[in-house]
Amino acid sequence: MIQPIKRGFLSAFLILLISVAVAQENGKYALVIHGGAGNIARESISEQQEEEYLNKLAEALKIGEEILSGGGSSLDAVEAVVKVLEDSPLFNAGKGAVFNIEGKNELDASIMCGRTHNAGAVTGLTTIKNPISAARVVMENSPHVFLSGKGAETFAYENGLEVVDPGYFFDQRRWDQYRQHIRDNVNRRRGYRDENLKLGTVGAVALDMEGNIAAATSTGGMTGKRYGRIGDSPIIGAGNYASNLSCGVSATGHGEFFIRNMVAYDIAARMHYGGQSLQDAAREVINVNLVEQDANGGIIAIDKDGNIVMEFNTTAMFRGSLTSEGEREVRIFE
Ligand code: ASP
Repeated sequence: MIQPIKRGFLSAFLILLISVAVAQENGKYALVIHGGAGNIARESISEQQEEEYLNKLAEALKIGEEILSGGGSSLDAVEAVVKVLEDSPLFNAGKGAVFNIEGKNELDASIMCGRTHNAGAVTGLTTIKNPISAARVVMENSPHVFLSGKGAETFAYENGLEVVDPGYFFDQRRWDQYRQHIRDNVNRRRGYRDENLKLGTVGAVALDMEGNIAAATSTGGMTGKRYGRIGDSPIIGAGNYASNLSCGVSATGHGEFFIRNMVAYDIAARMHYGGQSLQDAAREVINVNLVEQDANGGIIAIDKDGNIVMEFNTTAMFRGSLTSEGEREVRIFE
């Protein structure tokens, strides 16, 4: 006769086997990415620039797909994808980040695992090449969620992440925007009406073959931001959120509004408690609530069934997505 303790173990083992089998049979994965949202005119981007952006988004998607189609985790996929975008000067994250009021780059990032609800975030980085990897080591190798400034950098360094000179992040185009911003000095209070001054935050959300969702977001923030200013991107629930119970979300837009409205968590909560679909929840938050507050931006998201949403209230959002069913897209404008 099987003893009760052994029987318990046996049934747990069987459940595990069955769920692995179901996941493998499902073999379903999905990935969505963004490179920022803004009210930009089509004419302000040349054909060549448009092509560069679309190619970089496609390259990032491909890296993510290699991981997901090989049975890799959604966490590995979103980190790898965001690293590609951080390494590109086209986007406002990692290299090519915008400058703060003192002419410095201060970088923010966060990552969240929808299975465990573990999360990691960093803010005010100046020397870690890939802030998203710093967020991941905070999540996995510390008992904390959020580290800032020097402490975050020391922790990233101790965990073997690549350290660079602050000059590594410099990009001439961003520097010119910063100089223009200082000259105009138009953004004193509510400000930041020039969308191109901050455009380019990056993010990724993935669903892997085991049904786990992860979300990652990385940014340089907003041009001319006060030293020490923290936007929504590294704030769990505001610019980034993931839960296998509902969805994963990565946001981009005017951070102060995204914090006040807890945008990413609001979308997940509307689904979880209110039974809304991902599309309805995202539309209400981005295209009703934020619009009423005159707040620009957008989100990308995937729900637990693999539905993808890219919702924005601006003329453009750099974005792309793919699914295991073979759907593919990369786009900038509507
Ligand atoms: N949300 C970012 C911030 O406020 C900026 C952006 O996504 O455009 O720092």
